[in-house]
Amino acid sequence: MRSTIRLGKVFGIEIGFNWSLIFVFALVSWSLAVTVLPQGVPNQSPTAYWITAVIGAVVFYGCLLAHELSHSVVARRNGVQVSEITLWLFGGVSKLAGEPRSARVEALITIVGPLASILVAVVAFGLAVVVSAAGASALVSDLLVWLAVLNLSLGVFNLIPAFPLDGGRLLSSFFWWRSGTRQRGVHVAVQVGRIFAFLMIGVGALELFRADGFNGIWLAFLGWFLLSAGSAEESSTVTKALLESVPVAAAMSAPVVTVSDGLTVDEFLASEAVHHHFTTYPLRDAAGELSGVVRLNQIVREASSGGHDRKLRDLAVPMSQIPTTQPQEDLETLLERLETGLDRRVLVLDGGKLVGILSPTDVARIVTVRQALGTRAGAAV
Ligand SMILES: [Zn+2]
Repeated sequence: MRSTIRLGKVFGIEIGFNWSLIFVFALVSWSLAVTVLPQGVPNQSPTAYWITAVIGAVVFYGCLLAHELSHSVVARRNGVQVSEITLWLFGGVSKLAGEPRSARVEALITIVGPLASILVAVVAFGLAVVVSAAGASALVSDLLVWLAVLNLSLGVFNLIPAFPLDGGRLLSSFFWWRSGTRQRGVHVAVQVGRIFAFLMIGVGALELFRADGFNGIWLAFLGWFLLSAGSAEESSTVTKALLESVPVAAAMSAPVVTVSDGLTVDEFLASEAVHHHFTTYPLRDAAGELSGVVRLNQIVREASSGGHDRKLRDLAVPMSQIPTTQPQEDLETLLERLETGLDRRVLVLDGGKLVGILSPTDVARIVTVRQALGTRAGAAV
């Protein structure tokens, strides 16, 4: 899930939202304007309902942001940088650049979110009481009560002990504290989360046969979502632990064959490709500088579609778009830095000199080997 629209920065943290949010924003406004407000305060004009509803939806997302910002502020206080906050269908996600150094810090960063939501609920309810005592429009106090209920539910819902909810993370830090390793903590928390996810799916399925079909589907869908999020969390933690303190140098392919970017497709196939088994070739320009990277299958495709005389430099991905690393960098740090995961080749440079190439296959090989070593030695994970 990526943030697609940038809103700006708060406390130096990039705030964005995902397209899925627009749909939910419309749904929230619509349900407020058509159902919630007319039921609470009858006989108002449609315009009054809609204006209050849209304001309510905006404030609601402000509350979600407050929840996420509380995570971010505490994270930064404890030395964990936050790269961005994205609001989406199920609320917000704070993207941490790095990991908390202890179970206690992780628990602290996590618990403030639900606490912030519950605090917002209390404040909104207090305001509703004040506003209605002061004789303001019933629409305003009704909206405030709605905000209080929603924030309270948000705080409580987030405490369900399943990833990616705060409750799952809280449980994981508890088991981290008990067992001494983060990976063990995540493993146990994911198992517990599964029970809750299956319960939600089960109750959702029962609801389908009883009164409320929509709630049933929604609950089952949420359960399924929590189930897959738990598996994703577990596998990413396992991979991270396996790649911890493995330097790029141990995984990369070396030496690297570079070719001139002035070669044509046919020249390359006749003079270079036949001599090597590589699938990726970094290019050098006339001055000997790295200018880009070409893939063998791309060159072969070009040849079969008649582009025999095209220069390699015209087919290459330019250097500016090629991720680079150093031999000493940790694979775990590298994967975190690349964000999208390793889905393309990374050039390994040592003091500006090309010393290797790292491919997803290289990383997968290291993961498999370390996994095999770990199970044979009976090492606890
Ligand atoms: Zn949270």
